Amino acid sequence: MNLQDYRGVWVFLEQKDSGIAPVSLELLGAGRKLADKRGVPLAGVLIGEGVKHLAQTAIHFGADIVYVYDDPIFRDYRTESFMRAVIEAVQKYKPEIFLYGATSTGKDLASAVATDLATGLTADTTLLDVDAETGLLEASRPAFGGNIMATILCKKDRPQMATVRPKVMKAMPPDYSRTGEIVEERIALREEDIRTKVLKIVRESRAKVRLDDADIIVAGGKGLGSKNGFQLIHQFAEVIGATVGASRDAVEAGWIEHPHQVGQTGVTVTPKIYFAIGISGAIQHLVGMQNSGLIIAINKDPDAPIFQACHYGIVGDAFEVVPILIEEFQRVLDREVQYGGKV
Ligand code: FAD
Repeated sequence: MNLQDYRGVWVFLEQKDSGIAPVSLELLGAGRKLADKRGVPLAGVLIGEGVKHLAQTAIHFGADIVYVYDDPIFRDYRTESFMRAVIEAVQKYKPEIFLYGATSTGKDLASAVATDLATGLTADTTLLDVDAETGLLEASRPAFGGNIMATILCKKDRPQMATVRPKVMKAMPPDYSRTGEIVEERIALREEDIRTKVLKIVRESRAKVRLDDADIIVAGGKGLGSKNGFQLIHQFAEVIGATVGASRDAVEAGWIEHPHQVGQTGVTVTPKIYFAIGISGAIQHLVGMQNSGLIIAINKDPDAPIFQACHYGIVGDAFEVVPILIEEFQRVLDREVQYGGKV
């Protein structure tokens, strides 16, 4: 591979709810800085049905060129169709750097493209820079449970690819006077060539879980034993007005949905009070909640690592301890209502 043939910084423009996803606008901001440092153009790749009009938005937010694949075959995101478009564009125009949002779509697409092109991909990047001379992308991300930052280089292959976490980079303020080039692309792809069919899209109806700005979180883990046992966490949270959190093992057991997961692959939280109930305290869980104001752990194993990370620890069976807490909190809160103030 002749690395000199590759030039330009690209951003995958994810679109949803008839607009460009915020993370893609943030990446245009980050990509602009990289492109300027290298003295190369910044381009966006826009794929979908009826999306052509969004290309102008990308230009307002920093793109010089937007390659548009607008076709009914791209109505719903499917790995096969989108990766075919991206790969064709990469082979035709040869960008040196290609950034994607670390969203479900971005991660899925980037990994499929990287595999097919046999190039490097740094996942979940939080910091980006480029060496102006060599053109090497310096993609940094937390490693070893967040204890160190690793900077990853892709020296021998192109494009150098990275997925970037939402809300980490800053979008530029839109400049409505900016102009750029919009290139409409065509791809010879038939519906029969795609194995995946989207039959129906079912949107999650429940309200968004707001773990990251909750004051009190009651989190449950595998120690609750079953989906039924996990109800104890919901009962306790309801009584004290808390938001429900969970360990990954509780989520993987199917007792609660992923948006409730706290930790490295879940949400990072900093509530005033964090109850960890039946949670062992694995490093991947701790990195997501260790900055909470007050951590109270309930675990029947006195040697559980969570007791090294908490301010107060109760050694006991959750099914004995939590009902007592519920009763006591309920009694105090009832009195508060009765006397119309704090007790
Ligand atoms: P366990 O480790 O099985 O602990 C259950 C605890 O409950 C034990 O300490 C036990 O003593 C106690 N217990 C049992 N019965 C009772 C009872 N009746 N009353 C009271 N206590 C009881 N984990 C996360 O949580 N979040 C993440 O984001 C995350 N990301 C990960 C990313 C990677 C790359 C990897 C490799 C792992 C990740 N994990 C994550 C998983 C993590 O390593 C642990 O496996 C997980 O946190 C354990 O969940 P747990 O504490 O609920 O279960």
